[in-house]
Amino acid sequence: VMQKRLIVVSNRLPFQLLEKNNSVTLKESDGGLVSALKSYFETSGPQGTFNSKWWIGSADFPEKRWKKYIAQEQTSSFSVEPLFIEKKTYNKFYNGFCNATLWPLFHYFPSFVEFDEETFKSYEEVNRHFADKLLTILQPGDTLWIHDYQLMLLPGMIREQRPDATIGYFLHIPFPSFEVFRMLHRPWKEKIINGLLGADLIGFHTHEYVQHFLKSVQMVTGYDYQFRTVFLKDRIVKADLFPLGIDFDKFHNATRSTEVTTLRNSIRSNFEDKKIIFSVDRLDYTKGITHRLSGFERFLELHPEWRERVVFVLVVVPSRQIISKYNERKKLIEEHIGRVNGKYSTLKWQPIIYRYNHLSFDELSALYQVADVGLITPLRDGMNLVAKEYVASQTTQGVLILSELAGAANEMGEALQVNPMDREEVSHAIHTALIMDASEQQQKIEVLHKRLREYNVIHWVNDFLKQLEETKEHQKAQQ
Ligand code: UDP
Repeated sequence: VMQKRLIVVSNRLPFQLLEKNNSVTLKESDGGLVSALKSYFETSGPQGTFNSKWWIGSADFPEKRWKKYIAQEQTSSFSVEPLFIEKKTYNKFYNGFCNATLWPLFHYFPSFVEFDEETFKSYEEVNRHFADKLLTILQPGDTLWIHDYQLMLLPGMIREQRPDATIGYFLHIPFPSFEVFRMLHRPWKEKIINGLLGADLIGFHTHEYVQHFLKSVQMVTGYDYQFRTVFLKDRIVKADLFPLGIDFDKFHNATRSTEVTTLRNSIRSNFEDKKIIFSVDRLDYTKGITHRLSGFERFLELHPEWRERVVFVLVVVPSRQIISKYNERKKLIEEHIGRVNGKYSTLKWQPIIYRYNHLSFDELSALYQVADVGLITPLRDGMNLVAKEYVASQTTQGVLILSELAGAANEMGEALQVNPMDREEVSHAIHTALIMDASEQQQKIEVLHKRLREYNVIHWVNDFLKQLEETKEHQKAQQ
């Protein structure tokens, strides 16, 4: 019988290895994709679909430590195959083409984009490393699922060598309008589009991203498409939307956890008679943190009656610290916080509580739960899981203010949606949220809960994999 294996490929492995007292332990990384797929691996979806599950990604630990770790006999719900990429190449690839070219361009920050032939070469080189590794592993019966913008050339590189492979690809960031995508140098955009078309199924978070992608395919390659199917010379490729969900139960059940409850009560008692507004994001210019601060500042200016009765807990998680745009951003945020606190603080009150750090799951859950308002206002975001996690962490109340420019806005019509650039609108939404009556809050939360619970992350994985299988059948029927 043919072994059916699921091989997940992402730029980074979902954990770090820490060495302590001569033994090596595993520390899970931050981020949505990791917890998403882990939930799937652990609960496993429909039993028996795959005989085994693999995760391939680059390591940010030395090979020596890895060898020590495997010698310790670990058990896990999946097998791991790390790639060790030379540091200089990796940095040019990651800090260069990935995060100084693709990331700003795909999030509509064209003025931040760097165009550098060298970093594109590193991008090709790293994708080639992944391809070489995978080609040594790949067997008939394998399903390959490649993730995100760091590996857009990889599907094509595999397809060249294995015309019959089953390859799914998912993009976790927006796919921009062709008018923005076309700014890439011609050979780069051709390679990217042809790289992606190496997959059988290409998934996106929203309908708009799918449409932008299909248009770019047509403009760059001349291939025709109908509805969501692209017609290549020898095969069809599907592009479709699969909005990423969260592990709803994990966040919702945390409302009953004793550790989280203790934390929540202690936060609450610090701000006893005050409403709490909360936000958490990685430090990133796409997250709109300075615009959000302007909105909050405007709110304090227009509503003096709320001064001393509201506090904004702003958590920023360190990210991509090497890139200058990110450090500049940190300075801007901290100066802005200083200005607002300087202007409005009284001897017994400070409007903004700022924290620049990672949060543990319990801390994050406690903050979500205690927050009367979740203020999530990215300037662009592929999806934004924080918005979904905030809602899942409420019991009956809590108001989500959400940027209409986050992918999540498509599924969260009940939220107070705002244009994150418009401080009047943000300020107005804060006021609306603070005075919203309890029954209206509850009604919105219930509708959102129902949707998030149904289309959770397991559903997302199953949906994608099912459609990948159907695409393969469709291809066979066409031959
Ligand atoms: N998160 C985390 N560590 C923290 C704070 C948050 O891992 O200290 C998680 C959070 O629970 C969420 C993810 O990071 O699942 C952020 O995902 P999102 O889609 O909101 O934004 P991204 O950072 O992927 O752009």
